[in-house]
Amino acid sequence: MKVVMGVDIGGTDIKFGKFSNQKLILKEKIKTNKSDDGTHIMDEVYQKVDEMVGIDELVAIGIGIPGPVVDGTALGAHNLRWTKARNIRQEVYDHYQGRVVCTVLNDANAATLGEMEFGGGKGYRDFVFITIGTGIGGGIIINHHLIEGSTGSCGEVGHLRVETGNIRRCNCGLYDCVEQYASATGIVKTAIELRRGRETDLHKLDIITAKDVFDLAKAGDDVAMEVVYEMVDKLSTALSQIATVINPEAFVIGGGVSSAGEFLIHYLRKRFKELAFYSVRDVKFELAKLGNDAGIYGNEYYASLELENKH
Ligand SMILES: [Zn+2]
Repeated sequence: MKVVMGVDIGGTDIKFGKFSNQKLILKEKIKTNKSDDGTHIMDEVYQKVDEMVGIDELVAIGIGIPGPVVDGTALGAHNLRWTKARNIRQEVYDHYQGRVVCTVLNDANAATLGEMEFGGGKGYRDFVFITIGTGIGGGIIINHHLIEGSTGSCGEVGHLRVETGNIRRCNCGLYDCVEQYASATGIVKTAIELRRGRETDLHKLDIITAKDVFDLAKAGDDVAMEVVYEMVDKLSTALSQIATVINPEAFVIGGGVSSAGEFLIHYLRKRFKELAFYSVRDVKFELAKLGNDAGIYGNEYYASLELENKH
């Protein structure tokens, strides 16, 4: 049986999906080995892939990397301790002596393709995927095609500036990027600021999580609701700017924070309408559907596409 592997390399773990005829038939996960500057990562990927492929025939492999990717080359991936550019496509090609088609994608872009084919973006020709976790990432689909950009950084929507006061410094070195306000980390920062001297159940928590904030807001805690409004306001500011540039049919919202579900989408849609330019205001908001599997689906899809193009 001919099989395609979708591999999603993350900073914490590496997810593997084995596909036959676009159907996921086996799924596994290993911890990311970051010792010795991440030099063992690819060997451990090959090992797991071979073990999962077994007696079947591996024809293509799609790999996702947490960093910018151009033409099969990962320009760097801090989460993997890869500081130099690596041509992953060539490495994989050499490893399998040219017998296997390989594609390499940025992780958020891979998730975007997964959602396009099998998830919340299904049925849309133009949409923007936004993933909200500890940071904010995304991907852009125009005319059913992923747009990667000249340095592989298209869809880095987490670094849109949404304040002018240089208030919160971002990990990227800039100030007031939207992920400093609307990511899980940003939500917690806002909660700690806003609970000071106020009467709120947020004081009952030693460690606040974004989920706690949404749960308390849903339960009617005024201060928690203010934190949600602040998050929604900053995110809508960024989305309204994206909308004027891309004019998408839909925003597909994924990542851990999207588990707040329709509650989040409701306020987001409302605030977005107030901030967006009149002719781009009518955007649909969808929740992502594949969760943590979006990456393996997207990488498999991209590798299968490349395989088709070769024939
Ligand atoms: Zn930034």
